[in-house]
Amino acid sequence: MFVGHYSAAFIGKAVEPRVPFCVLFLAAQFVDVFWAIFIILGIEKASLDPGLSSNPLVLDYMPYTHSLAGTFVWAAVAFVLAHRIPVLGGAGRTAVVVAAVVASHWFLDLIVHRPDLPLDGDQTVKLGLALWNYPVPAFVAEMALLFASIIFWFRRSGAGMPARRAGRWFIVGFLILQLGFWLGPVPPVIQAVAASALFTFLLIAWAGVRIERRIIETGAAPAN
Ligand SMILES: [Zn+2]
Repeated sequence: MFVGHYSAAFIGKAVEPRVPFCVLFLAAQFVDVFWAIFIILGIEKASLDPGLSSNPLVLDYMPYTHSLAGTFVWAAVAFVLAHRIPVLGGAGRTAVVVAAVVASHWFLDLIVHRPDLPLDGDQTVKLGLALWNYPVPAFVAEMALLFASIIFWFRRSGAGMPARRAGRWFIVGFLILQLGFWLGPVPPVIQAVAASALFTFLLIAWAGVRIERRIIETGAAPAN
């Protein structure tokens, strides 16, 4: 899953507006940020098969970032970071929201991944409902999740027009990214996929900073 992961970030923002968008966006892709780093370093393994539907990813070995057990460890790390570092959310409920957004990643991946998600370090059981094998429904599902969560956020935000306008920008931007992920050219090596994924995650977090600033400047603070 790609842009569908950000639905967890928007739900988190609706529930706890004090957590900045950029933190929630990075939380939604926290394990994929480390997946990209681990692929570049050779700690986890993947390859490319251009014949596959939706995307060419063959995710052979990713016990650290994409096992169910690993997910809860990453969520715990995120909880501690958010709890300790005020700018990442702060103590109490905000840290719980950041951790929940991190944990959502595995469950959202479960919908689309071909069976490549291990339960723990043991590679014998791997799960995935394989919606990626049906590119149009997979695309629609990700966009629908995102769209619904953005509407939920701006209804809950109370920020009115600035949030509505920001929501439109988010939808257009994510739509372009998801189309690129689906229909874009297949990179020559998996490390190129990882590097471009890492760049994209940081770019989206940066866009979160800019758009949040804009919402505040146009007169309605996103926080309650
Ligand atoms: Zn993932």
